[in-house]
Amino acid sequence: MTMDHVETLECTLCEAEYDPDQVMYTCPEHEGVAGILEVIYDYDAINDAFDADVDGVIDSQWKYEAFLPVHDDAEVVTLGEGGTDLFDAPHLSDALGVETLVKDDGRNPTGCFKDRASSIAVTKAKRAGRDVVTCASTGNAAASLAGYAARGGLDCRIFVPGDAPEGKLAQPLVYGADVLAVEGSYDEAYDLSVDVTDAYGWYNRNAAINPFQVEGKRTVGHELAEQSAVRGEVPDWIAFSMGDGCTTAGAWKGFREFHELGYVDDTPKMLGVQAEGASAIHDAFHEHGDADEVAETVADSIAVGRPRNTVKACRALEESDGTAVLVDDEAILDAETLLGRTEGIYAEPAGAAAVAGVRQAVAEGVIDRDETVVVNSTGFGLKDTAGAQRATEGVTPIDPRIEEVSALYGGPDPATEGAE
Ligand SMILES: *Cc1c(COP(=O)(O)O)cnc(C)c1O
Ligand SMILES: [Zn+2]
Repeated sequence: MTMDHVETLECTLCEAEYDPDQVMYTCPEHEGVAGILEVIYDYDAINDAFDADVDGVIDSQWKYEAFLPVHDDAEVVTLGEGGTDLFDAPHLSDALGVETLVKDDGRNPTGCFKDRASSIAVTKAKRAGRDVVTCASTGNAAASLAGYAARGGLDCRIFVPGDAPEGKLAQPLVYGADVLAVEGSYDEAYDLSVDVTDAYGWYNRNAAINPFQVEGKRTVGHELAEQSAVRGEVPDWIAFSMGDGCTTAGAWKGFREFHELGYVDDTPKMLGVQAEGASAIHDAFHEHGDADEVAETVADSIAVGRPRNTVKACRALEESDGTAVLVDDEAILDAETLLGRTEGIYAEPAGAAAVAGVRQAVAEGVIDRDETVVVNSTGFGLKDTAGAQRATEGVTPIDPRIEEVSALYGGPDPATEGAE
């Protein structure tokens, strides 16, 4: 019945504290959803409860259940999320001019990183006795929540901006969710989902305001720390793309926790990567004054005009001694084909953006060529094939005659001709 390892929910703005047993989203002392809450843990209790071996064998993120804000008696809703491989990437490293590893979170059950959070959200919703879960999403959070709602036997109603890629909408529909396409931007869909949560009492998964679900994103930090410990080397940098900024904040919190508990002897610098057309966190971090709220990029998963987690994301960049960089759409699409071509990893544009960010940071001298970088590829390429088509040279049409192949590749070599 207990959740003794969770001490309190603390407002990131005014430090007011709230009972973690309530279903509660943001601090009521501030207008709208500005008062994001942080989950504060009792690390002695966590340390006592965490008895897994830090040996690199990670079946799912629930290896770190002792760190997750769920009640002891909660029925965990899982599809085996997390536990993603950390790949050496020698060819990519050559191309980028810096030693790079890739953690491929596109391999999560619904094809994206967000499954780490959805598993927590649906587990919490169920424990709280809610029958309906909801969120606003540019696509991936919707698909992810819908999948976990199906798994947990809950209804799912999601709000998407009218221009979300169709491939991404097929997925939540197949999972049985109601998909409400809002004639408006992501930000408008988001505001509507918050109003509806207040009015109907549906459980809201929205990453930025739900203080618990984002805690699932810490597990990528735990995993990277564990995988680093096994490799015997903590990377100098970990690169993530940023939309709302929750992923970067969560990953940092997880890694930092493992460092504080002594599982690794160092921490990486966080590199937060945004698209030039959706640069609000980058601009806030570098104090570029008012960012405009227009969000336009080929990487739809990070097309966020008003990020809800700028505070936590900037704090992660700052505490880790990291920074934020911007990349344009062409660089993102180039990075998508580069990652595919060099390592056989197919990322959606938002996933590839982190690779583009590393290239940019190396060019700017932010990353030294003798440093080591881990790139997290946050989403699977089949999520958005239209974007990918733009990044390639397309198919080569030919007639069904061998001469057509010869015209392309020469030969066939007379020695092999008629060799049978
Ligand atoms: C949501 C998403 C992101 C950005 O995560 P935030 O927590 O919003 O910063 C990056 N990549 C993919 C594939 C995503 O779906
Ligand atoms: Zn507050």
